[in-house]
Amino acid sequence: SSSLPSHRVDLASRTPPYKKLAHKLEEVRKILGPGRQLTLAEKILYSHLDNPEDSLLSNTNNGRDIRGNANLKLKPDRVAMQDASAQMALLQFMSCGLPSTAVPASIHCDHMIVGQKGEQADLPSSIAGNKEVFDFLESAAKKYGIEFWPPGAGIIHQTVLENYSAPGLMMLGTDSHTPNAGGLGAIAIGVGGADAVDALVDAPWELKAPKILGVELIGELSGWASPKDIILYLAGQLTVRGGTGYIIEYYGPGVQSLSCTGMATCCNMGAEVGATTSLFPFSPAHVPYLQATHRGPIAEAASKIASGPMAQNLLRADPEAAYDKVIRIDLSRLEPHINGPFTPDLSTPISKFKDIVEEKGWPKAFGAGLIGSCTNSSYQDMTRAEEVVKQASAAGLKPKADFFITPGSEQIRATLDRDQTLSTFSAAGGTVLSNACGPCIGMWDRKDAPPKGEANAIFTSYNRNFPGRNDGNRATMNFLASPELITAMVYSGSTTFNPATDSIDTPNGPFKFTPPKGSDLPSAGFAEGRPEFFATPGVPDPTVEVVVDPRSTRLALLEPFAPFPNSELNSLRVLYKVKGQCTTDTISAAGPWLKYKGHLPNISENTLIGAVNAQTGEVNVAYDVDGTKSGIPELAKRWKEKGQEWLVVAEHNYGEGSAREHAALQPRYLGGRIILAKSFARIHETNLKKQGIVPLTFANEADYDLFEACDEVATRGLLDVLRSGGKGEVDLVLKKKSGEEEVIKTKHTLSEDQCGFILAGSALNLLARKGKE
Ligand code: SF4
Repeated sequence: SSSLPSHRVDLASRTPPYKKLAHKLEEVRKILGPGRQLTLAEKILYSHLDNPEDSLLSNTNNGRDIRGNANLKLKPDRVAMQDASAQMALLQFMSCGLPSTAVPASIHCDHMIVGQKGEQADLPSSIAGNKEVFDFLESAAKKYGIEFWPPGAGIIHQTVLENYSAPGLMMLGTDSHTPNAGGLGAIAIGVGGADAVDALVDAPWELKAPKILGVELIGELSGWASPKDIILYLAGQLTVRGGTGYIIEYYGPGVQSLSCTGMATCCNMGAEVGATTSLFPFSPAHVPYLQATHRGPIAEAASKIASGPMAQNLLRADPEAAYDKVIRIDLSRLEPHINGPFTPDLSTPISKFKDIVEEKGWPKAFGAGLIGSCTNSSYQDMTRAEEVVKQASAAGLKPKADFFITPGSEQIRATLDRDQTLSTFSAAGGTVLSNACGPCIGMWDRKDAPPKGEANAIFTSYNRNFPGRNDGNRATMNFLASPELITAMVYSGSTTFNPATDSIDTPNGPFKFTPPKGSDLPSAGFAEGRPEFFATPGVPDPTVEVVVDPRSTRLALLEPFAPFPNSELNSLRVLYKVKGQCTTDTISAAGPWLKYKGHLPNISENTLIGAVNAQTGEVNVAYDVDGTKSGIPELAKRWKEKGQEWLVVAEHNYGEGSAREHAALQPRYLGGRIILAKSFARIHETNLKKQGIVPLTFANEADYDLFEACDEVATRGLLDVLRSGGKGEVDLVLKKKSGEEEVIKTKHTLSEDQCGFILAGSALNLLARKGKE
């Protein structure tokens, strides 16, 4: 292996800690008692518990009802981050002051790269436009020992599959399609930046124990059916919410015939049904895939465990393990499916698609076929598409729609280049885009674009198809299908074409495709690709300075929040009294604000701008003590400058919606100390505590009516609660403009750990302190 680039040689950090995990599994079995059967997902999760007894026995009827009840405190093996979400994760990590990450981690620059004119032109222009962000990510990676995959190296999930995923591994990724790694038998979960930081600093990461949905596969795929069709079909069965709170665990004899990358495609799109993650058991296809990606020793170690005694078998479900729900799919009868438009769960078998197109009046022609992306750019996918192109070219056919190919990584691109797959695509008129997200995340300057609002169709082998996702046109119908099916359809130009039954007219008579075979893996091995796209090694270098230009509008270093004072909070003011729903989007809006994700002061300009003023009904209109009218962020900034700390008063389910950590960071940054609400969304309540804000609920909901903007508030008992690790209650002394005072009873859910966060100023401050001890 001496000729291999350095990022391939470091196998130690890429091998799951099998010995340690086996011991933990034994411990778990002891705690749960003899005869207890575990699913594969449970085995991997529970063997990553920080303290199994603590997590498995509390709140679970003595270990009998773990799923859906237990709060698992987990210690993941690894973290992966993409360029957009890595910014705040790293800024928070940096404020801990640790010299390196506690677990191996990687950064992947893929989301901020456009797909317009092809790789040669797009990559340099994307790098120029985002230079300061890439420079920041690279310097932070080098300083803290994070492997850094530069722009052009590939899409996070493909790179993770090729380098980091392994049977039995548990990892977190700051992207929703992180579960892609489950194709190689890992538990891989998509999270926000603050969660990733938990793992980076070796703090336990909390997860409500998911239920387990078993998907039993029998039979074998044939003809045009591909692994993509398994998940397209399943999405139709489950709908976009059907997997919420579940891990999808595949099993059964049908698994044996699937390629490793095909299994990854199924796991990738488990995100579309809301599943926590998806995974496959260790299977025959894993061995050659691990070997071909220079990880033979991991294949050996995993094979040994998988064929060893069941008691220690971390890589297969116990024979009698029970699932909370089971769906069975016969692969031999599975047809290709087309899902969409506008939602990934509208699933139609190809044999019925023509009728539906006619019935619904969907467009009969389509503008573009796009294949590849993190979901479907494997060697198998691309060689199957290549065979389709070759058949068509031999018959003298030319594509009737634009045809784009996105390789998922430099390794796959270089391999397809060497094996002349890419030149086959180009010669046929296809455009090969950068190894990046590109059109999948809307970074696409669509050339054939019809006017905005005009109904039209495209086909992609991606995973998401929400309105406007690819070309910004909400009327574009994005249909999801396998790469080989899309490629065949590109030659017909028709949405109603079924390559299994239909033919295309040529001067030499009708032409019919034969189903492509493709190859799972390149017979000459994977090519390494261009060295400029190799990862930097994960070795910390304290001499590196992290580059953040103080004039930057997109990045700003985080200042640690001040610790809690040695007193009660005596003179807070009500900044705003919110009426009705207040989601994380209300608190920190997305859209154009996303470019400031790495700049807390700038993104804080959107704080609460969606909130309704309970006294006036106005949105984002706040009044200062002297009656001055302004937006909420303006008032908060004015108060921050004066040192006036504040609280927000709100109604039910404050902070519902996504887990967006900015919704807790921003109020804290602007001087917020307390959120007093009728109730909280669970994840947001935890996020507030992590950032040092005290969430309190009314003991008597009607007290909400007593509060008005600019009222003064003092705490009584808060300091005692914090110092005693959460014992006792907090009263608020509410002082009205008239001088009248009233004592308001509140409730809290502060645990001992969380009291520590608040006393220290934030969870990160506490971690930083522990790190220095
Ligand atoms: Fe997400 Fe698309 Fe990029 Fe995959 S290719 S990581 S789905 S943006």
